[in-house]
This record gives sequence, structure tokens and C-alpha cells, in this order.
Amino acid sequence: MVSNSQGTENIQFQTEVSQLLHLVIHSLYSNKEIFLRELISNASDANDKLRFTALNNNSLYGNDSELRINVDIDQEKKTITISDNGIGMSREDIVDNLGTIAKSGTKEFLAKLTGDAAKDSNLIGQFGVGFYSAFIVADKVTVCTRKAGLNANEAIEWESSGESNYTIKNITKDSRGTDVILHIKKDEQEFLSDYKVRSVITKYSDHIAWPVNMQKLISSDDKQEKASEKASEKEYEVVNKAKAMWALAKKDITEQDYIQFYKHIAHDISDPAIWSHNRVEGKTEYTTLLYLPQNAPFDIGNREQKHGLHLYVKRVFIMDNADQFLPNYLRFVKGLIDSNDLPLNISREILQSNAIVNTIKNALTKKVLSLIDKLSEDQDKYASFWNEFGSILREGIVEDFSNKESIAKLLRFKTTSSKSEDELFSFADYLARVKNKQENIYYLTASSYGTAKSSPHLELFNSKGIEVILFTDRIDEWVVNHLDSFEGKKLQSITHGELQDDLLGKEQDDLKESKEELKPNIEKIYKVLGNKVKSVRESKRLTTSPACLVADEGEMSREMIKILEATGQPAPKALPTLEINCKHPLIKKIIAEDKEEQLNDWINLVFEQAILAEGGLLEEPGKFVSRLNKLLLQLSA
Ligand code: ADP
Ligand code: MG
Repeated sequence: MVSNSQGTENIQFQTEVSQLLHLVIHSLYSNKEIFLRELISNASDANDKLRFTALNNNSLYGNDSELRINVDIDQEKKTITISDNGIGMSREDIVDNLGTIAKSGTKEFLAKLTGDAAKDSNLIGQFGVGFYSAFIVADKVTVCTRKAGLNANEAIEWESSGESNYTIKNITKDSRGTDVILHIKKDEQEFLSDYKVRSVITKYSDHIAWPVNMQKLISSDDKQEKASEKASEKEYEVVNKAKAMWALAKKDITEQDYIQFYKHIAHDISDPAIWSHNRVEGKTEYTTLLYLPQNAPFDIGNREQKHGLHLYVKRVFIMDNADQFLPNYLRFVKGLIDSNDLPLNISREILQSNAIVNTIKNALTKKVLSLIDKLSEDQDKYASFWNEFGSILREGIVEDFSNKESIAKLLRFKTTSSKSEDELFSFADYLARVKNKQENIYYLTASSYGTAKSSPHLELFNSKGIEVILFTDRIDEWVVNHLDSFEGKKLQSITHGELQDDLLGKEQDDLKESKEELKPNIEKIYKVLGNKVKSVRESKRLTTSPACLVADEGEMSREMIKILEATGQPAPKALPTLEINCKHPLIKKIIAEDKEEQLNDWINLVFEQAILAEGGLLEEPGKFVSRLNKLLLQLSA
């Protein structure tokens, strides 16, 4: 430490500061404008701290109680000055804050540096660059500061050219707070443009709670008049919005405020469907403002489309499309998160692996699910929400194991009780109607409502008055594969396996008796169909159709195989089981038939009908048509 005759001390930076300075200057060249964000953020913090400290000591305000931030450009001196009337710094403060790095973990951070600028610039995202970013654009930085409560002659000037040392001396400063004066480098003089600085401020600091002022631009007409008035008086105007709406108390925010803010950040002309504004305090501190839109953007189905929340750190805008805070299946949610814990300089890469981000993501997921649940109390609103976003929300059953139950509650679907395609029900509705001892929740997947409604598989259920869920969205196949139960009741496909349920009652006993005498007939049919089916058996589920196709329990559903084939993906070649309804006249006819050619035609026709009834495609439709015609002509002859 050297002290010269004027009382100027020359002090070496702590080693870590020198390292950090070097890193900041050499790795952040592609995003230079952030220095303004960092310095305005510090000024804002300083004002926050004064406001907080003055809560117990109102005299700290003196006669200067309107806290603000000024940004001045001096074209002649080639400087930008960021000044606040906040807490200020004492000599001790400034040595601690601008000469050493107090933050824990800094040493470990610096030890990880590789010297490779690209890798290091990524690493620095974990770490607030803060004040030192001034040296990205300045070759000298002067800080004049006077701590709140100290006298004018107790102010301090700190100065450095960002190398290995800085100087410190006592000065006199009329007003409380801190001026940071940047002597702009020769090749960074674009930052001396009033327009440039204003646009950077509105980009990053709109929602800083304090007004950020700049000198009014005076048009050439006004110039003379004004100059003749008070030449020394500067006229300022507020450049930022100066209102972090989400930081206000809820009681001070109107419904219109919320709606206008939504339109601003979501670029949507419609009102939001519902929103939720929350402040979380404790180990991690953040505020969120989450909106559910009314309408889906046209490209919502595209999973690659940019989405996500606006991220703020301490009310400073950091980035939009921060998609790390919500799972993919909630990608329709709009809004913002303002964190108190993340560093201002956080990068997208770091967000991906940050532990705080993960904690927040889990909490926000639950928050959004309960917001959707709340919306579901309004049936009409929820119907339209479901219509817009249901197929995306459904992805959550597959994607988010831990919230499966809550997502399942939000699902809506048609059932055999729906009076039209538009009448949707929830699992809760279904369970409320379940009669006596029904153990399962029954469902059917099909490619359309029409196919589902007329499926032969429904016959027994319809006759017994047992409700069946009709899943008709492509993604439903995946959904039901990941959802085996709801509130303890098993989800059971009605097209899978043999029906084993006490629901079947008497029919089961009838079947037992007929089994033996049917055997040779079943073998006869199986022989004709040969490699087209896995087996043939008597059906317990048909009342009016002659036959249907069934997949084995645990096997991929026939609907899923159809979907995979249609999208050109490899599907397992699982043969169906043909179930026949022995009470049906057609089957009786087959059993009685003894001419081999006729028998072949009838059996193939019944099999092909079963494929058509489930909305499937025939391998040889031409053969089906000629077979059918031949039999029709025989009948009419
Ligand atoms: P951070 O803001 O993350 O703490 P910075 O490098 O931006 O890191 O700032 C370091 C410290 O310097 C701040 O914590 C604060 O104590 C002090 N400081 C910086 N700018 C100001 C200011 N305008 N007024 C008062 N203190 C300041
Ligand atoms: Mg800072």
C-alpha cells in the first residue's frame, strides 16, 4: 500500500480480482452492452439498501428522499456516468467491495478456469460479473461515493484502469450515493450515443423499480429558448417503465394491470384465461407471474418451438424463452420468474444444470397444475382450454411420472355416456357413476369417435350399462400405456385379453357348458384363417356382432400398431385373436356349413368384417368385395 502526499493510496487488487477482470474483459466481448445492466442493477440495489436501512432511521434520507438512477453521457469527456442516491460506500466498504471478492466459491470458480476463452465464457455464467463488467467498454473507471449518514467531506474516490491496481482518495461530494464514471474506450464509442444507451436501458431495465433518468433531448427549435433560460439546470426524463409490476403487493395491482402485462409479454391480443402471482420466500426466493392463455398459437404442436418464461434476476431482465423452469408439456404457459438467488450473468447452458433452477421447476410445475385445476372449476372455460391445450397437457402423463395423478385429474374424454362428441368427462365423473363392485375403469382406444362408438367390443358393456371411456386422440395410446390406474382403480382396455370380471355374471357359466362341443368348430375356423390369427375363441363380449379381434393382455394394442404402421415406424407383428359370437346367425351358419369352398368364404368374410369394424385396413380389399358379392348372389338366388 503506497500513500502519496495528496493522501492518494495505491492498492493492489486481490489476485482473484485480477483474474476475474481479465476473464470478464476477454470473454464477454460478444455481449458488451451488459455493463449497463450490471451497473444499473448495482445502483438499484444501492437504492433498495438505503430504503431498507432508512426504515429504522428515516433521517438517512436527509433532504433527498426521491430515490432514482441517472445516466449521463458527456460527449466531450467521452464518459458515461451512472449515478444513484442510494446507500453509498465508506472507505472500508469500497476496499471490501471493489478490491476483493468476498463471495464464497470464487476461488473454486477461478480454479476451474481453463484459459480457453470459449469454455470460460460459459463458466462465467455461473457467476455474477457485476461491477467489473465496466471494464468491457471503459479503459478507466472512477467511482465517487458518499455513504448515507456521512458528511460531504467524508466521500471517497476510487479509480482504476482495470489492471493490477486501483487508487483511493478522500474527496468532497455534495450529494449522497454513488457516481460510476466510465471513460469509454476509443473503439467502444458507439455507447456514447444517446439512442443506443436508451435502447439498452429499455431492453434490460424497464422493470427496475426505480426511475432511470436521462437528460431530455432538446429539439433544435427549443434549443435557443432553453439555453436562454437556465443554462446550468439539466432537465431529465424517465427512460424505463420504472415499475416491476410483479414486485408490487397484490392489492396494488388491478385486474387490468395483469391483463395488460400479459399482452405485453405474451404478444397475445386476447386476454389470458387465468393467472397466478406468487412470492416465495425462504431458502430460495423468487416471484412468479404465470398465465394460461386462451388460445394456442398456431405452431403449438411443434415441440421445437421457442417457449418458456421471461427470466429476471432481482428485477433485471435476463432473457426470454427461459424454458428450463417448466416441463415441456406445460410449454403453453406464459409469464415470468424473478429470482433473487441466480447470478445476473447466468447463461442458458448453466440454467440447464443449476440446482436452484430444478427446485424452482418442481415448484412451478405443481403451481401450474393447480392453476389448471382451478380453471377446471369453470366448465365452459375449461372445455375451451382443454380443446386448445389438452393434447399437450396429456403428454405430461408420459413425461412427468411424479405428477401423474394430478395430471390424470385434469384429463377430459368422451365416454359411452357422452351424448355427443363435445360432451367430455373426467375420471372423477366416471368414478361417481360406477355401480356396485366394478373393479376397473374400462376404456377403448380408436382412431375416431365414430369407430369407437360402433365398436363390437362395446356390446356387452352397453348391454350391462357399464360406462367405457372412448380415447380417440392419437397420443391417448401412449397416455394409457403410462397410466395403469386412477385412484386405485385399474385402467383396463376392453380390447385386450379375456374379460375376467364378476360383471359378466351368468354368461360365463353358459360359456363353460358350450366349450366342449364348440372345440371342433373353433379348430375348423382356425385352420381356414391359418397364419392370420393367433387363435380363435368364443367371445364373452359380443351380443350383436358375429366377431371381433382382441389383443393379448400386456401386448401392444391393435390401435397402437395401426398408428405405428401409419407413421412408418416399425411395429411388432402381433397376430390378433379372433373372438366369435356363437349365438350370432352367421356363426351358426358357419358351424353348420359343410361345403369347403363356402366355409372358406364365410370365415374369411367374418374375419375381414372384424378388421373393418375396428377401423382397420384390409390387406386385399378387392378379394373381400368379390367374396361378399359372391355370397350375396348366392343368398338372393
Ligand atoms: P453484486 O452486485 O453481485 O454484489 P458487483 O460486482 O456488481 O456484485 O458489486 C460488488 C459490490 O459493490 C456490491 O455488492 C455492493 O456492495 C458494491 N457496490 C457496487 N455498486 C454500488 C453502488 N452503486 N452503490 C453502493 N454499493 C455498490
Ligand atoms: Mg451487481
